[in-house]
Amino acid sequence: DFLADNLLLKRSKEAGEDCKWESNDFPWYSKIITILNDIFKLSSFRPNQLSAINSTLSKQDLILIMPTGGGKSLCYQLPALIDRGNNSRYTLVISPMLSLMEDQVMQLQSLSVKAEMFNTNTSTQDASRIQQMMIDTEEKLKLLYVTPEKLAKSKRFMSKLQKSYSLGLLSRIAVDEVHCCSQWGHDFRTDYQFLSVLKGMFPDVPVIGLTATATTKVILDVQKMLLIQGCLIFKSSFNRPNLFYEVRQKPSVQKECLEQLEDLLKHKFKDMSGIIYTSSIKDCEDLRLELRNRGCRVNGYHAQLEPELRSKIHKKWLSGEYQAVVATIAFGLGIDKSNVRFVIHHSLSKSTENFYQESGRAGRDNKQADCILFYRYSDIFKLSAMVFTQKTGLRNLYSIVEYCINPVDCRRKIIASHFDETWESTDCNKMCDHCKEPYETQNVDITEYCHSLYKILEHAHSNDIKLTAQMLINVWFGKSSKIKSKIVKLPSCSNEMAGNVIAYLLINDYLQEDFHFTPYSTISYLKKGSKSTFLNNNGHKIMMTVKGKKQMTNSASNIKNKPDRKRSNLDNSPKTSKKHRIITIDSESE
Ligand code: ADP
Ligand code: MG
Ligand code: ZN
Repeated sequence: DFLADNLLLKRSKEAGEDCKWESNDFPWYSKIITILNDIFKLSSFRPNQLSAINSTLSKQDLILIMPTGGGKSLCYQLPALIDRGNNSRYTLVISPMLSLMEDQVMQLQSLSVKAEMFNTNTSTQDASRIQQMMIDTEEKLKLLYVTPEKLAKSKRFMSKLQKSYSLGLLSRIAVDEVHCCSQWGHDFRTDYQFLSVLKGMFPDVPVIGLTATATTKVILDVQKMLLIQGCLIFKSSFNRPNLFYEVRQKPSVQKECLEQLEDLLKHKFKDMSGIIYTSSIKDCEDLRLELRNRGCRVNGYHAQLEPELRSKIHKKWLSGEYQAVVATIAFGLGIDKSNVRFVIHHSLSKSTENFYQESGRAGRDNKQADCILFYRYSDIFKLSAMVFTQKTGLRNLYSIVEYCINPVDCRRKIIASHFDETWESTDCNKMCDHCKEPYETQNVDITEYCHSLYKILEHAHSNDIKLTAQMLINVWFGKSSKIKSKIVKLPSCSNEMAGNVIAYLLINDYLQEDFHFTPYSTISYLKKGSKSTFLNNNGHKIMMTVKGKKQMTNSASNIKNKPDRKRSNLDNSPKTSKKHRIITIDSESE
């Protein structure tokens, strides 16, 4: 059914691209503008906001895809204030995050818009009051926020909602973070599955789904689940031209890594505000302590801190008292600080999606900001043990590994392909490490390395030994205490490169992770992957593109070398662009 799916999505997309929705000719246009200016105190729409508002007011089902901070909320908040005929009609907003819900309701109330919320914190009195409002034809409620959990679990609420609908009071259903419906998404939530009943129960109530997740797979899944196949889709570009993307090799020695961080905070980002993301609470605590000992104005933020302390730290960061927060991903939702100048990832994110969201908290003011990721292959295995139980957890993780180990491609281009977008190198404008300082590339045949690694794994297996990636490298380099005998030739590459080879073989299915539980942790061992049989064929080669010499940059090149010639050569020549593929694996030879 994949083709049919694609057609559906294509049709939706074409409709979405149809500019008829971006028109000023709808009967409510002047009303919309008045509300935009007078109530929301905004002067103009951002891309796709008008289209989304026009189409939902035309009772179309739609999915709106916009990067975080793009302004999705307005697309259901504003239409909720356009009462056509009956001003007791309200919009039901389904939203998974309590804190975001609270923020929005407070903000709406401060704009004198009548909004209520219904969630686990709602008292019994408030619950009855709200449920009364839902069926009161004199009521002026405009937006009612509810968590998916409440919808799924409160029969009483559902019965009021049905009553409300039959009274003609339910004007629209907005589903925020709609990607949570999909198991393919990075944030699947079981309670969202309940939302599949909505379309059947309220067939003529338009649905507007909102998300910053753009992959085709997820969107198709969401459409299916909400029974809105073929609905309109509006998608804004995910390119954030003001963000500079960079990946740095993370030193294997913790102290050296700290020195680099300290240096960044004290020099490059002096007097600027930022976030340092870590992948675990332990790392978060360690880093916070170490950086404070080095005199950096930082504090930590993670889920195990008391809510009061967290909000205190958040405030001190907002005010600039702290230069940076060292945080786990618990720090994120609801951050609305415009002048974040840097987001540093002390280790990998869980996925490209997560990385994009986390790094995207920088530069909301559209001024330049830096997104630096410290990559080291060993971090893969810390994270994989956390995500492997999720359906696409490992695939998602490997996508960000690919971003890191890719030696030449524009970082933006890699992110874009993940969002099913294609950006030209002009979209980057030298705002990533690879575009700024291009390297020559070299294709290396790593087939022999793979054979060696297989030999070691087979030897270990026959001796009933399991090997983690680090142990595998140690054996390979002849430094293991477990397997002393020399099984294979010593590799001619550095330890760093060996790590990258293993990462590369892993994300290309020549190696595979094998998880084992101990009472305290989950350990990732390595075994042969699904493509290992390819190597039985003698002609099969595994090629890996690696960094070569640095290309002469404009400043370093002589005057004859016109600045733009070099770039355009690089971009247009079919030969180089082929070389620029991350993965150049020769197909199986006949
Ligand atoms: P999203 O849900 O897409 O992440 P939000 O709806 O929370 O984004 O909006 C992010 C910020 O953008 C908010 O501070 C909001 O007030 C602001 N915003 C939304 N629309 C506009 C607009 N048309 N002009 C200026 N600011 C806007
Ligand atoms: Mg939002
Ligand atoms: Zn680039």
